[in-house]
Amino acid sequence: MSAEIINVGDELLNGETVNTNAAYLAAKLQEFGIELHYQTTVGDDSLRIQKNLKRALSRSSIIIITGGLGPTKDDITKKVVADVLGKQLVSHEPTLSKIHNKLKDLTSSISKTNEKIALYPEGAQIIDNPIGTAPGIIISENGKRIILLPGVPKELKAITERNAILCFSQSREKNYVIKHQILKVWGTPEAKVGEVLEDIMGENKNPLVGLRVDVEEGVKVSITAKGGSVAIAQKLIEDMENIVKQKLGDAVYATGETSMEKVIGMLLSINKKTIAIAESITGGLISKKITDIPGSSNYFLSGMVTYSNESKIKDLKIPEELIKENGAVSEQVAKAMALAVKNISSANIGLSTTGIAGPSIGTTNKSLGLVFIGLATDNKGCQVEKYQFSGTRSMIRTKTAQTALDMVRRHLITI
Ligand code: ATP
Ligand code: MG
Repeated sequence: MSAEIINVGDELLNGETVNTNAAYLAAKLQEFGIELHYQTTVGDDSLRIQKNLKRALSRSSIIIITGGLGPTKDDITKKVVADVLGKQLVSHEPTLSKIHNKLKDLTSSISKTNEKIALYPEGAQIIDNPIGTAPGIIISENGKRIILLPGVPKELKAITERNAILCFSQSREKNYVIKHQILKVWGTPEAKVGEVLEDIMGENKNPLVGLRVDVEEGVKVSITAKGGSVAIAQKLIEDMENIVKQKLGDAVYATGETSMEKVIGMLLSINKKTIAIAESITGGLISKKITDIPGSSNYFLSGMVTYSNESKIKDLKIPEELIKENGAVSEQVAKAMALAVKNISSANIGLSTTGIAGPSIGTTNKSLGLVFIGLATDNKGCQVEKYQFSGTRSMIRTKTAQTALDMVRRHLITI
């Protein structure tokens, strides 16, 4: 029993719209223990949709088609599906009255175009759209199930959330459920993580362990387990989670949806510590991330963007000579910034960043991507780490912010 998704829409092929429906449905199917084997994106073209549907019918038992249920000329999904299955399109009276009622407020006439929304392949089941007019449609045919959903992501979700059991539970493999977990890793490159986890990775394993890389969040280790019950699948996940954590140690900073800044917020709260930040290269990024977390006012005292040399001298009271001698991007200045901001704000932790984000290196003879991060704490003095990051300006700044936060995390888990 496997599923296949066909997303219809020219806008998905020309890059105008990101295919969020596929990602949402993939996660939903997993919740129901249905394996997704194929995803296809196809333009608003009858012949190509027809070919895709025929191929899907030959290899999958559940086929979900999204998009093209609307009233306009390019909305052709229902017609194609009806043709392939040899069915007539008939009008669904409750949907038609819904459209009439809705349009009554706007205009007095209802056109043929609008009536098209109420058409469905005869014998199919209609699933109500709680926030829009085009309903979802379920067609059961020769042991196959074809589910049509509107393309508008909000409507697709509203229909699916309300009717998930109707849509998926009958199609569910009775023997097992699938559970999924993500572990996030910072500070260890993907290749190294791959080496460390080599013996637990591989095709056809249960649980299945995979790796993905994300500039913002680092390496993500995904664990997918199949089990005879939720409890069994969950136990498989937990055991594998522990093995991964043992192998990677402190490099694992979070699980699931939890972000680095959320982890730091929790650690600062538990340890009753406060933080103040002086940012140069990151221009406020770190302060933004920390204050994204509700309740951060309990531990975040201040964030100063001391971008220019003048600001470092005037606001942080860093001696001008120190900058002249070493340059603003230096271990000495990072250290002075962290100590100064800690002192000015009377915080337990002072964090600083200074570096060269590019794209050019300006008047310095230092390398692009050179970054210093300072961490001043109550009892360990001030530690400064030097990094050589690569990538675009935005990537260098993102990596700096996340690495600085990770330094704070590593400090907090050892106190
Ligand atoms: P409508 O009644 O609005 O015409 P529809 O079912 O015909 O609905 P489309 O016309 O295909 O759907 O798409 C409507 C909107 O939803 C468009 O703005 C489109 O960009 C967006 N959309 C369509 N498919 C997807 C998708 N797979 N992921 C994200 N957005 C999508
Ligand atoms: Mg449309």
